[in-house]
Amino acid sequence: MSRPTDFFNYKNGILTSDGVSLADVAEITGTPVYVYSANALLQPLRELQKGLEGLDSMICFAVKSNSNLGILKLLASAGAGMDLVSGGELFRVEMAGVDAKKIVFSGVGKTPGEIMHALSYGESGIFSFNVESEPELALISEIAAQMKTQATVALRFNPDVDAKTHPYISTGLKENKFGVERQEILQIARNLNKYPGISLKGISIHIGSQLLSLAPLKDAFARLKNLIEELDALLPSPISFVDLGGGVGITYKNEKAPSLSQYCELIQKSFGPKALKKRAPLKILIEPGRSISGNAGALLTEVLYRKMRKSKDFVIIDAAMNDLIRPSLYGSYHEIASVLQKQSNGPKSKVDIVGPVCESGDCFASDRSLAKKINQGDLLAILSAGAYGFVMSGNYNTRPRPPEVLLKDGKFQLIRERENYEDLIRGERFFEEPTSSRKKGRK
Ligand SMILES: *Cc1c(COP(=O)(O)O)cnc(C)c1O
Repeated sequence: MSRPTDFFNYKNGILTSDGVSLADVAEITGTPVYVYSANALLQPLRELQKGLEGLDSMICFAVKSNSNLGILKLLASAGAGMDLVSGGELFRVEMAGVDAKKIVFSGVGKTPGEIMHALSYGESGIFSFNVESEPELALISEIAAQMKTQATVALRFNPDVDAKTHPYISTGLKENKFGVERQEILQIARNLNKYPGISLKGISIHIGSQLLSLAPLKDAFARLKNLIEELDALLPSPISFVDLGGGVGITYKNEKAPSLSQYCELIQKSFGPKALKKRAPLKILIEPGRSISGNAGALLTEVLYRKMRKSKDFVIIDAAMNDLIRPSLYGSYHEIASVLQKQSNGPKSKVDIVGPVCESGDCFASDRSLAKKINQGDLLAILSAGAYGFVMSGNYNTRPRPPEVLLKDGKFQLIRERENYEDLIRGERFFEEPTSSRKKGRK
């Protein structure tokens, strides 16, 4: 189970990760800045690789959780494949040199251009499309046929289980927009000859994010197995892979998230050779995002002001909701640590830690206990910011987005520059008044 401070600890009184002092990073890059620990990224990947040993498996990192090229390259070099949800992400993995046969493409709204790009990626297209509707299947078939190829696809099954997570990140109920219902999948399988450009080889699921129990997954796996048995009887050649999605939760505060080894055990038990005695083994894909990147990142920020109030103080920092939107969007909790350990000593008081953006929702923590010493110029680290952090950032209030830094073996490198003011207006232009209409002879 990954915790916020697994890879961010005090060494010689300074918050340190991968042997790098975060005070040093802040001094060189300025704040706010995202930092990621290479060790923290690689450890869960290795844990999953080990847990799935003995299976024909592929671990496809959910690019949307953290799509920096430096991170993608690091994970791909350690054996990860990639799970995408857009053409932009396809471009990113291409730039990072990811092998076509390790790429799956998910998402409910793939465009013709994105489908074409994925079919022409590498030598013969990506490993698979996770298809979310019959019209999408029809379009992929048509495009593949035009390109004189066949697209390997998995249908995304909506197993109608409640992931018991935040409604915004729950995706496996039949009222959600995601996936295809069981009856419809069977119908598609019966009429597969309507789709000459399609090679249906897999079934995928993804029931939600930040799952804190394996029970809904277990439920979904059972329904998936059941569906596959029925499909085997219908299809000319049996299903060859299942994609089990992502979604294993992490600890942000004190939630008890399932460990990755427990998760892998469930997969082994559900889809390992012992569980599938009657049929050929299935290749197993998983799409972890947050469980790899979540606790591998922190957002370093400096205190701009401590605004004293009778009721409670406001600690105003130089990071804002445009940099990390999770607290504003989901009300999510992030541990906030002082970079200098000595600043966290002594009496504490309840404060609100807020950004400079003109929205009351621009709040990272309310009624948080913080050392009274923390004041102007002090550095704080907002932990558990590696997933859905920078990738969800924007330029609201015309704020340049922060740089990203990778920490590895006692060294650190910029893997994305800080945006500057020029970046902020790139592509914008003044409206040109059309030349006077009178000259063209109109009244
Ligand atoms: C978002 C997403 C994931 C990753 O989810 P995490 O909770 O970050 O593990 C995996 N697969 C699909 C299809 C997704 O949309």
